[in-house]
Amino acid sequence: MTRRGVCLVLSAPSGTGKSSVGRALLAREPELSLSVSATTRAPRPGEVEGVHYYFRSLPEFAALAAAGAMLEHAEVFGRHYGTPRAPVEAALAAGRDVLFDIDWQGHQQLRLALPQDVVGVFLLPPSLTELRRRLETRAQDGPAEIERRMASAHDEIAHWAEFDHLLLNDSFEATVEAVRCVLHAARSARHRQPGLAAHAAAMLQREY
Ligand code: 5GP
Repeated sequence: MTRRGVCLVLSAPSGTGKSSVGRALLAREPELSLSVSATTRAPRPGEVEGVHYYFRSLPEFAALAAAGAMLEHAEVFGRHYGTPRAPVEAALAAGRDVLFDIDWQGHQQLRLALPQDVVGVFLLPPSLTELRRRLETRAQDGPAEIERRMASAHDEIAHWAEFDHLLLNDSFEATVEAVRCVLHAARSARHRQPGLAAHAAAMLQREY
Protein backbone atom coordinates (compact mmCIF):
# COMPACT_ATOMS: atom_id res chain seq x y z
CA MET A 1 0.00 0.00 0.00
CA THR A 2 2.15 2.81 -1.27
CA ARG A 3 1.66 6.16 0.35
CA ARG A 4 2.66 9.37 -1.37
CA GLY A 5 5.96 10.87 -0.23
CA VAL A 6 6.32 14.08 1.77
CA CYS A 7 8.14 17.19 0.52
CA LEU A 8 9.82 18.40 3.69
CA VAL A 9 11.15 21.93 3.35
CA LEU A 10 13.56 23.00 6.08
CA SER A 11 14.24 26.72 6.02
CA ALA A 12 16.17 28.96 8.36
CA PRO A 13 18.47 31.95 8.32
CA SER A 14 22.06 31.04 7.59
CA GLY A 15 23.79 30.12 10.88
CA THR A 16 20.71 28.64 12.56
CA GLY A 17 22.01 25.10 12.22
CA LYS A 18 19.79 23.98 9.35
CA SER A 19 22.48 21.94 7.60
CA SER A 20 23.37 19.95 10.73
CA VAL A 21 19.70 19.27 11.46
CA GLY A 22 19.23 18.16 7.83
CA ARG A 23 22.20 15.79 7.99
CA ALA A 24 20.93 14.21 11.21
CA LEU A 25 17.46 13.76 9.70
CA LEU A 26 18.88 12.04 6.63
CA ALA A 27 20.94 9.73 8.84
CA ARG A 28 17.93 8.77 11.00
CA GLU A 29 15.23 8.52 8.31
CA PRO A 30 16.02 5.86 5.69
CA GLU A 31 12.98 6.80 3.58
CA LEU A 32 14.13 10.42 3.33
CA SER A 33 16.54 11.67 0.66
CA LEU A 34 17.90 15.12 -0.12
CA SER A 35 16.84 17.01 -3.22
CA VAL A 36 20.08 17.97 -4.97
CA SER A 37 19.72 21.45 -6.45
CA ALA A 38 21.27 22.94 -9.56
CA THR A 39 23.24 26.15 -9.09
CA THR A 40 25.30 28.61 -11.06
CA ARG A 41 27.68 29.23 -8.17
CA ALA A 42 31.16 27.72 -8.20
CA PRO A 43 31.82 24.61 -6.09
CA ARG A 44 33.37 25.23 -2.67
CA PRO A 45 36.33 23.05 -1.64
CA GLY A 46 35.08 19.54 -0.99
CA GLU A 47 31.77 19.95 -2.82
CA VAL A 48 31.02 17.16 -5.27
CA GLU A 49 29.00 17.40 -8.50
CA GLY A 50 25.70 15.55 -8.10
CA VAL A 51 26.10 15.16 -4.32
CA HIS A 52 26.03 18.74 -3.01
CA TYR A 53 24.80 20.44 -6.17
CA TYR A 54 24.65 20.11 -9.92
CA PHE A 55 27.01 22.91 -10.91
CA ARG A 56 25.82 24.53 -14.15
CA SER A 57 26.75 27.55 -16.26
CA LEU A 58 24.19 30.33 -16.47
CA PRO A 59 23.14 29.36 -20.06
CA GLU A 60 22.76 25.70 -19.03
CA PHE A 61 20.72 26.71 -16.01
CA ALA A 62 18.52 29.04 -18.09
CA ALA A 63 17.90 26.24 -20.62
CA LEU A 64 16.78 23.84 -17.86
CA ALA A 65 14.44 26.46 -16.42
CA ALA A 66 13.01 27.30 -19.85
CA ALA A 67 12.38 23.60 -20.56
CA GLY A 68 10.31 23.31 -17.36
CA ALA A 69 12.85 20.88 -15.90
CA MET A 70 12.86 22.70 -12.55
CA LEU A 71 10.10 22.71 -9.97
CA GLU A 72 11.25 26.09 -8.70
CA HIS A 73 14.20 28.37 -9.16
CA ALA A 74 15.35 31.60 -7.60
CA GLU A 75 18.24 33.99 -7.30
CA VAL A 76 19.95 33.89 -3.90
CA PHE A 77 23.00 36.05 -3.09
CA GLY A 78 23.31 36.88 -6.81
CA ARG A 79 23.50 33.22 -7.89
CA HIS A 80 20.80 31.02 -9.39
CA TYR A 81 19.51 27.93 -7.62
CA GLY A 82 16.80 25.51 -8.67
CA THR A 83 15.21 22.15 -7.88
CA PRO A 84 15.30 19.51 -10.65
CA ARG A 85 11.75 18.28 -11.21
CA ALA A 86 12.11 14.63 -12.32
CA PRO A 87 13.80 13.11 -9.22
CA VAL A 88 11.29 14.74 -6.89
CA GLU A 89 8.25 13.57 -8.83
CA ALA A 90 9.64 10.01 -9.06
CA ALA A 91 10.38 9.89 -5.31
CA LEU A 92 6.96 11.16 -4.26
CA ALA A 93 5.15 8.70 -6.50
CA ALA A 94 7.25 5.84 -5.08
CA GLY A 95 6.39 6.83 -1.49
CA ARG A 96 9.80 8.24 -0.67
CA ASP A 97 10.14 11.53 1.21
CA VAL A 98 12.31 14.38 -0.02
CA LEU A 99 14.14 16.97 2.08
CA PHE A 100 14.68 20.43 0.58
CA ASP A 101 17.29 22.92 1.69
CA ILE A 102 15.89 25.91 -0.20
CA ASP A 103 15.17 29.54 0.64
CA TRP A 104 11.78 31.19 1.22
CA GLN A 105 11.35 31.92 -2.50
CA GLY A 106 11.82 28.24 -3.30
CA HIS A 107 9.37 27.28 -0.56
CA GLN A 108 6.72 29.64 -1.96
CA GLN A 109 7.13 28.27 -5.49
CA LEU A 110 7.24 24.64 -4.40
CA ARG A 111 3.93 25.09 -2.58
CA LEU A 112 2.40 26.37 -5.80
CA ALA A 113 3.92 23.54 -7.86
CA LEU A 114 3.03 20.74 -5.39
CA PRO A 115 0.26 22.10 -3.17
CA GLN A 116 -0.65 18.72 -1.65
CA ASP A 117 2.88 17.60 -0.95
CA VAL A 118 4.78 20.34 0.84
CA VAL A 119 5.27 20.55 4.58
CA GLY A 120 7.30 23.61 5.55
CA VAL A 121 9.34 23.85 8.75
CA PHE A 122 11.01 27.10 9.72
CA LEU A 123 13.83 27.03 12.26
CA LEU A 124 14.36 30.15 14.34
CA PRO A 125 17.62 30.99 16.12
CA PRO A 126 17.25 31.80 19.85
CA SER A 127 18.06 35.49 19.12
CA LEU A 128 19.80 37.72 16.59
CA THR A 129 22.69 38.11 19.05
CA GLU A 130 23.05 34.34 19.21
CA LEU A 131 22.83 34.09 15.41
CA ARG A 132 25.65 36.62 15.03
CA ARG A 133 27.69 34.74 17.65
CA ARG A 134 27.23 31.46 15.73
CA LEU A 135 28.22 33.07 12.43
CA GLU A 136 31.32 34.58 14.07
CA THR A 137 32.39 31.42 15.90
CA ARG A 138 32.10 29.15 12.88
CA ALA A 139 34.78 31.47 11.37
CA GLN A 140 33.73 30.59 7.84
CA ASP A 141 33.09 34.16 6.72
CA GLY A 142 34.72 37.59 6.99
CA PRO A 143 33.02 40.61 8.65
CA ALA A 144 31.41 41.86 5.40
CA GLU A 145 29.97 38.41 4.67
CA ILE A 146 28.65 38.16 8.26
CA GLU A 147 26.86 41.52 7.84
CA ARG A 148 25.36 40.30 4.56
CA ARG A 149 24.18 37.06 6.18
CA MET A 150 22.63 39.02 9.10
CA ALA A 151 20.71 41.20 6.60
CA SER A 152 19.54 38.15 4.66
CA ALA A 153 18.55 36.47 7.97
CA HIS A 154 16.18 39.38 8.47
CA ASP A 155 14.67 38.81 4.98
CA GLU A 156 14.33 35.08 5.64
CA ILE A 157 12.66 35.56 9.07
CA ALA A 158 10.16 37.97 7.45
CA HIS A 159 8.61 34.88 5.78
CA TRP A 160 8.07 32.82 8.95
CA ALA A 161 4.26 32.97 8.60
CA GLU A 162 4.31 31.04 5.29
CA PHE A 163 5.51 27.85 7.00
CA ASP A 164 3.37 25.12 8.60
CA HIS A 165 5.66 24.65 11.58
CA LEU A 166 7.93 26.92 13.59
CA LEU A 167 10.69 25.53 15.79
CA LEU A 168 13.16 27.28 18.03
CA ASN A 169 16.56 25.70 17.46
CA ASP A 170 18.03 26.06 20.93
CA SER A 171 18.70 22.36 21.45
CA PHE A 172 20.00 20.38 18.48
CA GLU A 173 18.63 17.00 19.61
CA ALA A 174 15.21 18.39 20.48
CA THR A 175 15.00 20.12 17.09
CA VAL A 176 15.95 17.00 15.13
CA GLU A 177 13.37 14.93 17.02
CA ALA A 178 10.69 17.61 16.57
CA VAL A 179 11.26 17.70 12.81
CA ARG A 180 11.08 13.89 12.74
CA CYS A 181 7.71 14.06 14.52
CA VAL A 182 6.47 16.51 11.88
CA LEU A 183 7.62 14.15 9.13
CA HIS A 184 6.01 11.10 10.74
CA ALA A 185 2.72 12.92 11.24
CA ALA A 186 2.75 14.16 7.64
CA ARG A 187 3.23 10.62 6.33
CA SER A 188 -0.07 9.52 7.82
CA ALA A 189 -2.09 12.48 6.47
CA ARG A 190 -5.22 11.07 4.85
CA HIS A 191 -4.47 12.47 1.40
CA ARG A 192 -1.08 10.70 1.37
CA GLN A 193 -2.67 7.34 2.19
CA PRO A 194 -4.82 6.36 -0.81
CA GLY A 195 -4.09 2.68 -0.09
CA LEU A 196 -5.36 2.92 3.49
CA ALA A 197 -8.35 4.98 2.40
CA ALA A 198 -9.26 2.18 -0.04
CA HIS A 199 -8.68 -0.37 2.74
CA ALA A 200 -11.08 1.52 5.03
CA ALA A 201 -13.68 1.77 2.26
CA ALA A 202 -13.34 -1.98 1.50
CA MET A 203 -13.86 -2.88 5.17
CA LEU A 204 -17.15 -1.01 5.11
CA GLN A 205 -18.35 -3.30 2.29
CA ARG A 206 -17.84 -6.47 4.38
CA GLU A 207 -20.15 -8.20 6.80
CA TYR A 208 -19.17 -8.07 10.48
P1 5GP B 1 24.73 27.94 -0.54
O1 5GP B 1 25.29 28.66 -1.72
O2 5GP B 1 25.29 28.48 0.77
O3 5GP B 1 24.85 26.44 -0.66
O4 5GP B 1 23.15 28.24 -0.49
C1 5GP B 1 22.70 29.54 -0.41
C2 5GP B 1 21.20 29.56 -0.24
O5 5GP B 1 20.54 29.04 -1.39
C3 5GP B 1 20.67 28.76 0.95
O6 5GP B 1 19.76 29.58 1.66
C4 5GP B 1 19.92 27.62 0.32
O7 5GP B 1 18.82 27.22 1.12
C5 5GP B 1 19.45 28.23 -0.98
N1 5GP B 1 19.20 27.18 -2.00
C6 5GP B 1 19.95 26.09 -2.27
N2 5GP B 1 19.40 25.36 -3.25
C7 5GP B 1 18.27 26.01 -3.63
C8 5GP B 1 17.24 25.72 -4.60
O8 5GP B 1 17.25 24.74 -5.33
N3 5GP B 1 16.24 26.64 -4.69
C9 5GP B 1 16.18 27.75 -3.91
N4 5GP B 1 15.14 28.55 -4.07
N5 5GP B 1 17.11 28.03 -2.96
C10 5GP B 1 18.14 27.17 -2.83
